[in-house]
Amino acid sequence: MEQMLIKNFKIEDKPSVKYILTEGTRIAYMGEERPEAKISPGSEYDLGGKLLFPGFINVHTHLDKSRLAERIKNGSGTIGEARARLLAYKKQMTKADIKERARQTAEEMIQAGCIAVRSHVDVDPAIGLRGIEALLELREEYRDKITIQIVAFPQEGISEAPGTSQLMEQALAMGADVVGGHLSIAADFYEHSVRVFELAEKYDRDVDIHVDYDIDRDYSKKSVHRDGVIYPDELGITAMCEVKKERGFAGRTAASHLCGLDAADPEAAQNLISLIRRSGIDVVALAPNNMYCNGRGDAYNVRRGVTKVKALMGAGVRVSFGPDNIKDPFNPLGSADIIQNAVLTAYACHFASEEDYRKLFTMCTRDAADIMGLEDYGLEEGREANFTVVDAENSRDALADKAAVKGLFRRGRPVFLR
Ligand SMILES: [Zn+2]
Repeated sequence: MEQMLIKNFKIEDKPSVKYILTEGTRIAYMGEERPEAKISPGSEYDLGGKLLFPGFINVHTHLDKSRLAERIKNGSGTIGEARARLLAYKKQMTKADIKERARQTAEEMIQAGCIAVRSHVDVDPAIGLRGIEALLELREEYRDKITIQIVAFPQEGISEAPGTSQLMEQALAMGADVVGGHLSIAADFYEHSVRVFELAEKYDRDVDIHVDYDIDRDYSKKSVHRDGVIYPDELGITAMCEVKKERGFAGRTAASHLCGLDAADPEAAQNLISLIRRSGIDVVALAPNNMYCNGRGDAYNVRRGVTKVKALMGAGVRVSFGPDNIKDPFNPLGSADIIQNAVLTAYACHFASEEDYRKLFTMCTRDAADIMGLEDYGLEEGREANFTVVDAENSRDALADKAAVKGLFRRGRPVFLR
């Protein structure tokens, strides 16, 4: 079996590890002593003392609409205008066009040190299944380069856009990996949640829902919910948690955005965080997109509309982060660069200690892998040999310097070293 040895690197939480030996696609040995194996000179890599992470993961983005910013202008910078202009443009989006833009963004992610990405892909009567078809082809073509998970995403709602429910079924039957949802625009949170979990059960898939990115609703209206606790009526996360529990859904479930949690009053937020933790739902914070779009109507004390990352983590909820939109009308400044997204998350969520800075890198590696259900992931013997090499002394320097990704190894082979 093909062997590879890497040496002279630094793993922050495993400082004693000086050598990693890989056999085939997996990590065979990690330790302080050089292993006994006979390595050919071309298969031994000196990493110059740089930081080593398990492969970076982009847990939430939209490859199908990436790079549309030049073609679709969004003068107000709001989500509402982005959605309306995108919808009007969709008839011009061919499968080949979607695939080419997605391919370019996937290449950028690889250069940013990513080994996996979860992409929500629009499914609605305007785009039909062209986005799903394009991404399914790309997923196969890029199987050896980057793991692409496809979420069937009802951008225009489900019952709100007649025909979407059937299209979602087709997308899942064709091979979409995850059932998406769009509670942020759903007219009926329960009906929408029930349909999403129904599909997940029928096709045996995980769930990832865009929920509560609107911070302009009236969250002061509250009522007693089915568990006897008082929650704001205008939040979709409550229905998502309750429907998951009522159906006994055991698959992985992620709530993306969740900006409304930060707009709820402290007592309501505490009740909601407790509900999310009890429901076993993971949260994906999308600070770059939220800060770009939210609070645009605020004349002063402008809200940033990012979910309560530290409070959620403090309560034991698994949280990761992503860029969401990349160079499209929702966020023309959205970037595939994981470290840049980590920096923005740190600013938005008041990260403040060495432990916090390290945690950011756990969020975009280990935590993201768990949310995506990636088996064999991590810096441990027996796991897949995926390494991202970052030109920094420690996590804080990596963030402060927006350090360069100097190398990527995937499944025991170098993808690039520079
Ligand atoms: Zn999104």
